[in-house]
Amino acid sequence: MPDSLLFINATQLVTCAGPPRARRGKEMSDIGNLKNAAVAVSDGRISMIGAASDLKNAYGDAEIVDCNGGVLMPGLVDSHTHAVFGKARFEEHEQRAAGLDYMAIAERGGGVHASVRDFRARAEKELYALALPRLRELASYGTTTLEIKSGYGLTTADELKALAVIGRLGERQPLRIVPTWLGAHEIPHEYRSDEMRRATFVDALIDEQLPKVVEQGIARFADVFCEPGVFTTDETRRILEAARKAGLGLKLHADELKPSGGAQLAVSLGAISADHLAAVSKQGIDALAKSDTVATLLPGTMLFLGKSKQGPARELIDAGAAVALASDFNPGTSPTVNFPLIMTLGVSQLRMSLAEAVIACTVNGAAALGLAGEIGQVAPGFSADLALFSIDDIRELPYWYGARLCVGSWKAGAPCHPHEIVTKLNARPPEVVPAG
Ligand SMILES: [Zn+2]
Repeated sequence: MPDSLLFINATQLVTCAGPPRARRGKEMSDIGNLKNAAVAVSDGRISMIGAASDLKNAYGDAEIVDCNGGVLMPGLVDSHTHAVFGKARFEEHEQRAAGLDYMAIAERGGGVHASVRDFRARAEKELYALALPRLRELASYGTTTLEIKSGYGLTTADELKALAVIGRLGERQPLRIVPTWLGAHEIPHEYRSDEMRRATFVDALIDEQLPKVVEQGIARFADVFCEPGVFTTDETRRILEAARKAGLGLKLHADELKPSGGAQLAVSLGAISADHLAAVSKQGIDALAKSDTVATLLPGTMLFLGKSKQGPARELIDAGAAVALASDFNPGTSPTVNFPLIMTLGVSQLRMSLAEAVIACTVNGAAALGLAGEIGQVAPGFSADLALFSIDDIRELPYWYGARLCVGSWKAGAPCHPHEIVTKLNARPPEVVPAG
């Protein structure tokens, strides 16, 4: 990799520049769209933004990256995924369409327990090999940072195996990976018979599994699936207080299907994010708006499950909360690798503005991972995590929904997705000259 790179010929440079923290409320409307600006990168960091002619003088030795008239912006930050799993669960898609509910699908051997059985049976090497092409696909749509949770193991050995795979992915492929321990994803079958067994499982998470995770230094955050029928708010609080004490940052799966006070719990624990929130209460919205906890919405999940309900992005932003969008990439409820498609859903289903959706997938995603001082904006001093799209106007990114528009991405100046030249979907047709 050369010491310096110079990105030139971008029609628009979307910087998202501003304070190195989550943007809330009206702050989410400013994306800093510059016309015809060039970006210089030195030693993996953004060093200068300005006119190409000025930068060419200052960086004579730099390798030139010709953006070919595309839109250059911060690499997308996907702050909520379950990207390390074994087999896919496509059978359940049409079972749901046929009217089977979660319980009926579980009785036929499906659901999250199917992923758990499958995960436990696979070796670390195999799980790594399965994840690698999936991460390559994620990168090809413009994602440069990916949070990945454990949670399909549900035994100490299998959760450590999951985090080891996530760690190896972080070392050996180009995406920036943030590991989260989600040992409390579900109560395994073998602990569901009675309350005593259930308590034994929660105790073991706190007394046995958490210390091993912390000792090995393989997770940055702890997360709990707080939802009626899964972990109660009391159990969630116990697990996350222990995790906080052990030095991990906190995240929560909160208020996805029923409001149970998950959002308020996230705020009271000082969690960095509360995720899902499709069923969050008015009190939950108010609590989030007054806090530094990022409200992370996962519209792909609700769409794929065929639900008409979505997270209340409009109410959250209008109340002054910081909203992030994420893919929730997982084999059961959101098997998409296309992060710009989530941005489309942000606009069309969650009624966010283009600017709000862009901030939600960059700066606020970074804030939801504690990385708002490092990535998520194109500004001097920040890591050169960039994505280039073959469009003339940033508004086209959520517009051509489902299309792969990313033609290059970089993490700290190193390629994530190879730079390619592709014809634009909005290529201008020849001028029509009126006859006569
Ligand atoms: Zn999740």
